[in-house]
Amino acid sequence: MFDHTLPELAALLHGGKASSEEVTRLFLSRIERLDPALNAFITVDAHKALAAARAADARIAAGEAGPLTGIPIAHKDLFCAKGWKTTCASRMLADWVSPYDAHVVERLDRAGAVLVGKTNMDEFAMGSSNENSHFGPVRNPWDTARVPGGSSGGSAAAVAARLVPAATGTDTGGSIRQPASLTGTCGIRPTYGAVSRYGMVAFASSLDQGGAFGKSAEDLALMMNAMGGFDARDSTSVERPAEDYRRDLAKPLAGLRVGLPKEYFTADLAPDVGACVIAAVDELRRLGATTVEVSLPNQALAVPVYYVIAPAEASSNLSRFDGVRYGHRAAQYADLNDMYRRSRAEGFGPEVRRRILVGTYVLSHGYYDAYYLQAQKVRRLIAGDFARAFAACDVIAGPVAPTVAFPIGEKSSDPVQMYLEDLYTIPVNLAGLPGLSVPCGLGAHGLPVGLQLIGDYFDEARMLQVAHQYQLATDWHRKAPPGYGA
Ligand code: GLN
Repeated sequence: MFDHTLPELAALLHGGKASSEEVTRLFLSRIERLDPALNAFITVDAHKALAAARAADARIAAGEAGPLTGIPIAHKDLFCAKGWKTTCASRMLADWVSPYDAHVVERLDRAGAVLVGKTNMDEFAMGSSNENSHFGPVRNPWDTARVPGGSSGGSAAAVAARLVPAATGTDTGGSIRQPASLTGTCGIRPTYGAVSRYGMVAFASSLDQGGAFGKSAEDLALMMNAMGGFDARDSTSVERPAEDYRRDLAKPLAGLRVGLPKEYFTADLAPDVGACVIAAVDELRRLGATTVEVSLPNQALAVPVYYVIAPAEASSNLSRFDGVRYGHRAAQYADLNDMYRRSRAEGFGPEVRRRILVGTYVLSHGYYDAYYLQAQKVRRLIAGDFARAFAACDVIAGPVAPTVAFPIGEKSSDPVQMYLEDLYTIPVNLAGLPGLSVPCGLGAHGLPVGLQLIGDYFDEARMLQVAHQYQLATDWHRKAPPGYGA
């Protein structure tokens, strides 16, 4: 049962074959048994989870169940959930209990999903390996000596290890797609503005976007149906009618034009990863799609531009953590300025401090035009590249990450190497586009590889259609890490 997709679990629950309480107990016992080796969770609350499960059972009995009612889920620990610790994997917020629910938490709660816990992550979502957590690294269930990717590594590892059927994440530069790729799970980052950021602790506000992990494209569509839609509390939430992200899943791919960016298939891409991605593209062709080469000429500028814009926004967003209003406060200090300094120095880890320093620098007088403004102009060019590409194709396909999961410690001392993990994901965030990752093979050391699909604005339903049709023809998404499957 723990290997089931969301529709399979819903069929058991709503067909009276299992209760939400039974299903929730099963996943809680897997967490208890298997998570000590993975560290995917920061908080697990069996008491709250079982109460929610019983409420879901009552709804099912009353005939009021929706597709997610009774299904256990987990939230990345930067979604505020009322009465739950919301730590952002930082010492700064290690003991902070949220007094309110994020939009995403509220929506999934209303859908009847059962929250079992909050997942580990890179501190304030800064990282690609989950090594930047105050609560210790997350381990990849495919090989516990390796990283699960980041920053939503806890959610990805939890879904991969079948500790929860689905989970939320956020993707500012790749933090859903890259860990999905490295753990053999499915992950979607929707269009900027499609899912409200209300109650999601801010990292880089113009790039941050909530999304989801699951075991299939259909799982992602179901999660999106609950999470998406207009919310007046987020000023960048886009006013569009609610949509059914499942609506096109069954459509065949005949006539679909798949764009292959030539800048994505170069020597930067490990050959084992490239081979899996190319095989997946061949499968799309067999399913009736045609392929066309497209070009994203400013691709090489995306990582440098991101590492100006994201730290700039982070330095501003994180200024609220001053030891006064909430979060960690130093025990000893000489005066007010010293209290700020010590509280922030003690509360933030090294990567967060690095980003704040870089961000403050690029925004400072005399550098603003040279760095920040320049980066914004190049960002516009990158968005223009995608607009031209989408004139020639319906969906773009390519790799997610340049390599399979790497060993813990391998890149942690070299920030630039770590930043290059997001080579193929960051352009999507800069343009505000939707992207997803679905498993498409096993590369070096038998480790999972993801296929990235990038859609035009608000074209999630088509991306999900392509992913679903691919999954009807292949079974890479069914592969569990050795020892964690049914
Ligand atoms: N790895 C990137 C970073 O460190 C992206 C993180 C994210 O998407 N949250 O900033």
